[in-house]
Amino acid sequence: MKEIRMVDLQGQYERIKPEVDKGIQEVINTTTFINGPAVKKFQGNLENYLGVKHVIPCANGTDALQVSMMGLGLEPGDEVITVSFTFVATVEVIALLKLTPVLVDVYPDTFNMDLDALERAITPKTKAIVPVHLFGQSVDMEPLMEIAKKHNLYVIEDNCQAIGADYTFSDGSKAKTGTIGHVGTTSFFPSKNLGAYGDGGAIFTNDDELAKKIRSVVNHGMTVRYYHDDIGVNSRLDSIQAAILDVKLKHLDEYAEARNKAADYYNKAFADSPKLQTPVTADNTTHVYHQYTLVTKDMDRDGLLEHLQSRNIPCAIYYPVPMHLQKAYHDARYGEGDFPVTEDLSKRVISLPMHTELDEEQLKFIADAVLEFVNK
Ligand SMILES: *Cc1c(COP(=O)(O)O)cnc(C)c1O
Repeated sequence: MKEIRMVDLQGQYERIKPEVDKGIQEVINTTTFINGPAVKKFQGNLENYLGVKHVIPCANGTDALQVSMMGLGLEPGDEVITVSFTFVATVEVIALLKLTPVLVDVYPDTFNMDLDALERAITPKTKAIVPVHLFGQSVDMEPLMEIAKKHNLYVIEDNCQAIGADYTFSDGSKAKTGTIGHVGTTSFFPSKNLGAYGDGGAIFTNDDELAKKIRSVVNHGMTVRYYHDDIGVNSRLDSIQAAILDVKLKHLDEYAEARNKAADYYNKAFADSPKLQTPVTADNTTHVYHQYTLVTKDMDRDGLLEHLQSRNIPCAIYYPVPMHLQKAYHDARYGEGDFPVTEDLSKRVISLPMHTELDEEQLKFIADAVLEFVNK
């Protein structure tokens, strides 16, 4: 059996090697390392794939979030609502910009933002909402956008984990996650569903004015060379990364299919186990399984983690400490017990290997090892 990895980028590369190598070589041959034609080409192809007017490439997903907030003109003291059950970047950039993070709980089944909690958290100071499409499925965007409209709030979708997922509105129309709010963000970190061979990120919007502003912010606040109208940052996607991403974009839907196939295998294997809650996908979204995350019940989660690791099966806890209990984000407003679902999940979730290269032999080995511990 092939070695089991949490993410197998090597096996994936071997299948696309000629195309990727050619793309990299072209950038080197033309020495257009920064803002070269490869970046424009990828940008256009991603705009088409997502059905969005503007894609603005940048250096990573964290920058994408920060630059979005700068582009929207959010100011110190403005409240931005997001979830406590997320990767740190979401809360980090809010804090860095001296905005006020306001945290809310998530639903126990989808792990995504609880919309009743969202409504309760809105105050006259609230300016924006950052829904996080966690693990690969969409937040319930239609009611979220209605809440945002009612209270005149911006919506910045953190789509770092769900690129390619489709959300279906009540009238049957569909949209890709990240293109529904005022602005969407993604990360091309290597292990993400559309991963580069280094860092990368992008911002999406259908708003022409906002796109112009964000393009300026990522480029030192400059639209005319050496004239700086905004305070900006330096955040670019390398041409070499863009060339690689352009190849992988063509395979993104097929990658999502492979992830769904692996998830189906796991789901079937664990269906009869009362101690494991398999991932729940909401009716109005597809799932691109950035992570395959189980919720353990009445069992020693960390024992399961150790058991799998002892069999050379990598696995991980996303996320072991909610944002409101992190030292860096300690805030007198929040304490233990404030977000019961998030706190409970952080103690009970476990994510299994999930990538595009898992074969049936590996999946069986992983599922058997899980069940061996669970049925012990
Ligand atoms: C990965 C990730 C980010 C940050 O992306 P980087 O490219 O690593 O900066 C932000 N939010 C979420 C939810 C993520 O998963």
